[in-house]
Amino acid sequence: MSDSGRKTPKRAASDLTVLLRTVLGEDRFPVDVEALAREVSRNNEDPIATIKGVDIDGFEGMLRARRKKPGWQILYNTQPRYRGRERFTLAHEFGHYLLHRRPLTADDYGDGELSDGADFECLPLRANEWVDAEMEREEAADTFASYLLMPIDDYRDQVNGEEMTRALLDHVTDRYSVSLLAAVRKWIEFTDTRAAMVVARDGFALWGRASTAAYKTGIFVRSGMPIPDGSIAALGTTAQYAEDDQAIALPADVWTFSRGSEPIRELTIFSERLGMSVSLLQFEKAPSVSEIEEEEPWDTYDQFTSSSDRDASGRPSSR
Ligand SMILES: [Zn+2]
Repeated sequence: MSDSGRKTPKRAASDLTVLLRTVLGEDRFPVDVEALAREVSRNNEDPIATIKGVDIDGFEGMLRARRKKPGWQILYNTQPRYRGRERFTLAHEFGHYLLHRRPLTADDYGDGELSDGADFECLPLRANEWVDAEMEREEAADTFASYLLMPIDDYRDQVNGEEMTRALLDHVTDRYSVSLLAAVRKWIEFTDTRAAMVVARDGFALWGRASTAAYKTGIFVRSGMPIPDGSIAALGTTAQYAEDDQAIALPADVWTFSRGSEPIRELTIFSERLGMSVSLLQFEKAPSVSEIEEEEPWDTYDQFTSSSDRDASGRPSSR
């Protein structure tokens, strides 16, 4: 099946965001994915007929073709280890429906039962276990889910250029009803600031990601990199909560990246349940070329006002 002519994941999500804003206005969050999936698919010959949480090992979610007549079921895992991921999974499966499914018609059920497999069964992402085409589809469904649940324009309005704090993260996870990890990851994706996230367990980074602005200045997080002594992630919960859940200023030489070390502000959230920590590292703004140029008039002014201290050659006098 060719996917040409289909919408991109971001476009599909953004069209639904416009629809929700038009119909529901400011009351559209958190997005009711289940109602939306039913409503949007209702007039198709193969609608989403069933959405249900199930307690089954071995998968995260599934978009399953109905076996007796055109239509689909979304199943998502409700086991405790998937807590916080249910809504994201549901949105992910809805993404497969919009972006990837082969539309089913009565012809597919000629013998009274669906002949070939049209299902999407989704395991938690493990990069090395997916073949490329599957990987691309899974990432597309994740992108759709992320943009549907957390539209960037709205998220940007919530943050409003402020430093990320625990209170702000709590507000965002409440508003969109998503996991902390999903909210942090999304912020890293769109923020214009220099920031990075590091997910760690047992003293090592499981994975991480730098914002575009941070990446451009040599910051990236290697999986397996040791969490430095002196970081909040290493010092533990007491170090973080002493500061009332704000980011904590750390000197240079704590966190070191490819171009060296600099002072940062670190906010770490510890999950005892998952045995993990999520650190947000917020860096000082890097001086841009235009700012350096803007500083020149100041230098000129300084030279002018201090000219009485200079000799005829313009060098500072030696008195
Ligand atoms: Zn999937």
